[in-house]
Amino acid sequence: SQRIKIKALLESGRTSGDILVKGWVRAFRQNRFIALNDGSTNSNLQIVVDFENTDPALLKRITFGAAVSITGTLAPSLGQGQSVEVIATQIEVLGDCNPDEFPLQPKKQSLEFLRENAHLRFRTNTFGAIFRVRNTLSFAVHQFFQEKGFVYLHTPIITQSDAEGAGEAFHVTNFDFEKIPRTDTGEVDYKQDFFGRSTNLTVSGQLEGELGAMALSDIYTFGPTFRAENSNTTRHLAEFWMIEPEMAFYDLNDNANLAEELLKYVINYALDKNKEDLEFLNQRLQEEEKQKPQNERAELSLLEKLQFCLDNEFERLTYTEAIEILRNSTPNKKKKFVYPVEGWGTDLQSEHERYLVEKHFKKPVILTDYPKEIKSFYMRQNDDGKTVAAMDILFPGIGEIIGGSQREERLDKLETRMDEIGIPKDELWWYLDTRRFGACPHAGFGLGFERLVLFVTGMGNIRDVIPFPRFPKNAEF
Ligand code: ATP
Ligand code: MG
Ligand code: MG
Ligand code: MG
Repeated sequence: SQRIKIKALLESGRTSGDILVKGWVRAFRQNRFIALNDGSTNSNLQIVVDFENTDPALLKRITFGAAVSITGTLAPSLGQGQSVEVIATQIEVLGDCNPDEFPLQPKKQSLEFLRENAHLRFRTNTFGAIFRVRNTLSFAVHQFFQEKGFVYLHTPIITQSDAEGAGEAFHVTNFDFEKIPRTDTGEVDYKQDFFGRSTNLTVSGQLEGELGAMALSDIYTFGPTFRAENSNTTRHLAEFWMIEPEMAFYDLNDNANLAEELLKYVINYALDKNKEDLEFLNQRLQEEEKQKPQNERAELSLLEKLQFCLDNEFERLTYTEAIEILRNSTPNKKKKFVYPVEGWGTDLQSEHERYLVEKHFKKPVILTDYPKEIKSFYMRQNDDGKTVAAMDILFPGIGEIIGGSQREERLDKLETRMDEIGIPKDELWWYLDTRRFGACPHAGFGLGFERLVLFVTGMGNIRDVIPFPRFPKNAEF
């Protein structure tokens, strides 16, 4: 017979017949019961071994972590929490796993330990659940945009533009470092580089995405993004995935509506499709919370938090209104929040964002109309001359999850702003052309995919929600 995965088997409701299953041993109790896991679900399948009629040499090889193939007969299970088990008729060990050498142990292991053994962490229930949820969220993002008729546009990984000029880009070159060509004046001669110019890994697909939106109306990119920032935080990676929709004929309000709808759609989708995994993560978090003193515990469980996010409208207010709230707020000394903020014109620190979301409004917040000095050149200038049509979406426990804006479609305003900030117009001639030929109001945003996964899984560190995290001094596999 053909191999069936455990999830499909459990969902089929079958309790009789012959079966072939393959997976890894999670436990082998009393030489009799194998708990088999194949990664399709956290539920282990119980395999009943006839130990009296099984070669003792084979029994010895059934150890935690070993890969096995089991042929057997399905039977209703009397055990708790499982409807079916397999009475094994044939057991084959496909890959031995020496318990004296295998770094993982059957008991729960700390996240710190698993981060150090990141190549094996996929084999734990926690990471199995996280990566299945991540998979679902990624699918849901595509489904959301596809249902709305957006075109998935692949923007380049290697690019000339570093979008904001923030100096966080990784350079791409095929120069031999020992023999970098120089011009007569001693500068690096990028004309001799592979692309005949200086290039870097993309920090955002937005500018290129705008070209697509100016013809296809609604596009989105969903791809890897690279920033050589000092990402030694629990919210930053050097390589992360970003979802960047760009829509023609949208204003800031339409933009915020779409973002809120997207977030709710994908969270709801995961709650539905990954119920079991989210219940597992919920449980895990509850146990963690119990270790904390009463007054530091989260008010809502993970599942309650997700549901709450679906059931409530995000709070919308301007940056200026937020500053007023922060000015009038009482500092919470215990949490070491820093108030008042320095004043109008400065960017909010994450403690300010978290105060607004977690203490003041107690729900997701959409902050709009930031001072133009702290935002990018391409954001549309408001009539007050001081602010731009920007929006940041702030989530509890996360801080900024989305950054977006209505774009400046007026050529004169855009060029003036670029001059003011010192962004070279000649390098972005192709971008400026969209403003010359059939420009229209448009808007878009960037959703950090790992921050979304962080929120939905309730994990605390962004390095735990991407299969292969990239951060300073870490890029081995
Ligand atoms: P932050 O203020 O948190 O550094 P940002 O304002 O620099 O973020 P944007 O340029 O607005 O980030 O990028 C859009 C989104 O991409 C952010 O809202 C966030 O969700 C995500 N993001 C940005 N930088 C990172 C990073 N280094 N690692 C993971 N996600 C990131
Ligand atoms: Mg940043
Ligand atoms: Mg920011
Ligand atoms: Mg931002």
